[in-house]
Amino acid sequence: MAQQLVDRRDLDFVIWEQMEAESLLKNDIYKEFNKKTCDMIITEARTLAIKEMLPTLAEGDKQGIRFDKGSVKVPDCFHAPHRLILEGEWQSLPMDPGLGGQGAPGFVSAACAEYFLAANYALYVYASMGNGTAKMIDLYGTPEQKAAYIPNIISGKWGGTMLLTESMAGSDVGALETSAKKNDDGTYTLSGNKIFITNGEHDLCENIIHPVLARIEGDPPGTKGISIFIVPKYFVNEDGSLGDRNDIVCTGVEEKHGLHGSATASMALGTKGRCIGYLLGTPREGMKVMFNMINGARMATGLQALSNASAAYLLAVNYARERIQGRNLEDFKDQSAPSVPIIKHPDVRRNLLWMKSYVNGMQSFFHYLTSCATRGALGETEEERERFADLFDMLTPSIKDYLAVRGHEVCIQAIQVYGGAGYCQDYPVEQYARDCKITSIYEGTSGIQAMDMLARKLGKKEGRVFMSLLEEMNKTIARAREIEGPSALAADVEAAANRLGEISMAMGKRALSPQFKLAFAHSLPFLNVIGDTIMAWMLLWRATVAATQLANGTKKKDVAFYLGQIKTAEFYIKTILPEVMGKMNAIEAGCPAALEIDDDGFGGL
Ligand SMILES: Cc1cc2nc3c(=O)[nH]c(=O)nc-3n(C[C@H](O)[C@H](O)[C@H](O)COP(=O)(O)OP(=O)(O)OC[C@H]3O[C@@H](n4cnc5c(N)ncnc54)[C@H](O)[C@@H]3O)c2cc1C
Repeated sequence: MAQQLVDRRDLDFVIWEQMEAESLLKNDIYKEFNKKTCDMIITEARTLAIKEMLPTLAEGDKQGIRFDKGSVKVPDCFHAPHRLILEGEWQSLPMDPGLGGQGAPGFVSAACAEYFLAANYALYVYASMGNGTAKMIDLYGTPEQKAAYIPNIISGKWGGTMLLTESMAGSDVGALETSAKKNDDGTYTLSGNKIFITNGEHDLCENIIHPVLARIEGDPPGTKGISIFIVPKYFVNEDGSLGDRNDIVCTGVEEKHGLHGSATASMALGTKGRCIGYLLGTPREGMKVMFNMINGARMATGLQALSNASAAYLLAVNYARERIQGRNLEDFKDQSAPSVPIIKHPDVRRNLLWMKSYVNGMQSFFHYLTSCATRGALGETEEERERFADLFDMLTPSIKDYLAVRGHEVCIQAIQVYGGAGYCQDYPVEQYARDCKITSIYEGTSGIQAMDMLARKLGKKEGRVFMSLLEEMNKTIARAREIEGPSALAADVEAAANRLGEISMAMGKRALSPQFKLAFAHSLPFLNVIGDTIMAWMLLWRATVAATQLANGTKKKDVAFYLGQIKTAEFYIKTILPEVMGKMNAIEAGCPAALEIDDDGFGGL
């Protein structure tokens, strides 16, 4: 039967053959897990995703969110699968067992989450979003706060959110106006308005715990003066039961381009002057605390986009195998020749391989970064831990934005494969394209991720972290050189990696020079070519593993899969990578037109 949502053979290849995840399972904290149990968990997740969650994707999109006098109803069809998610404790899979989670290895929870997000992102996130809230409370909360909130958030009985955005404070969070006034009992009274809050209000749980960014009266402007508060929808009594309603209300939900099943709420705090919040951590360290959740959410956003792209690609390739249209090119003049499935047409094949190369490259990139996070925490030596923790930190803007942008492009190309049918709502690819678009906007837009890479990440530790990325690429290139097939591709990837090193130096220097604005005018193309080069690296790595398996003699059923890996790498490296080299030349040349054009020169006046 055709694969749905995520190609399982490919996922297994990435986890076990490319990333060699079995070596991670040797760590004591994973003693409950072996390859067999990991495979079983992923299989169970796939079944839940396909059988129970996927059927709600289109229906949830159609019915959408209903708002009535402060209350919000999710699509009716969400209730039953939401209960199944909580009964199976799927939402707590990655969480620490000490907090009530399952403690699954990162690659297992990522694989399961990819199935869930591909099946219905809007639905799954009602259950899973609280993890970030709980983690922050665990890291910075008092023992009382931990006891009061964490267990019920982890179990999914209560939801969790993140309240940063205000109408005049989007990308510039430091401009926020929500204020907090200290009360005699040590609590704070909050007042302000937040917008675009995912899951800010809904009917899937008893209580919602809101981490809210606000400024304590008298604290300095900008991000330095921001603190973070726990604001529960219902107060929690000392015995753990729910108390009165707090003064935080939903004043409306957005009508959006996509994600119609996801409640994007406007929240008013303190309209009656009684919104009580509890300081989390110490005053003015709100951004530091919130970044624990933001960084996790950036990884999750990348995965969201990848999951959409993965599902859209599988739909497209299977449609192309079935849709009969047109004759083979060699039968061009023969009117009696039979029509063929569109997968036989060279341009459709090119498009499918274009999509496959990105989906495969992004799948490997995501699992590579997941393994960096694991090795950064559990590596055997201090040196290993530091190296991989640094790589993880540096590549966070890249995984977030590259997957968002390319994931969306893959969804758009899936529509192209379907032709007119793709543009219609009877087929799911247009929904994936709509749902996916948000990923390059929330959790920091593309422009903000690009600035983060250029201003903060590139120069980390005098550029040594970036150099270690290039070293990692070079290890794969050296391996590829020794194997027939990939060896013919190694030189191109090496040239791209070297060129990326040169461009990075040039961009780093420019960012510190009087021409710094020019550097920032090219920061997004720069972030893009980092991702493009990582794709080439990941695909070469895949091809090397595949060629090794073929050389060692593999099962007949796997031959096409492995040969497909080599062809995918060849396609990307020989047809897309040259464009990337051109983009790198343009970045280095640094055309100043975007800065020099007069505001009025943009036209439209
Ligand atoms: C569906 C959805 C769900 C969301 N969920 C949440 C949530 O749960 N919690 C929450 O707090 N927020 C949430 N958001 C808000 C989201 O994070 C913001 O929309 C996003 O950060 C961008 O802010 P903005 O919309 O104000 O755009 P702006 O900040 O006004 O940006 C507009 C454009 O200008 C660019 N830009 C702005 N400033 C700069 C700069 N200094 N340099 C270069 N370019 C710049 C941006 O890249 C963008 O292209 C959500 C939004 C949506 C649509």
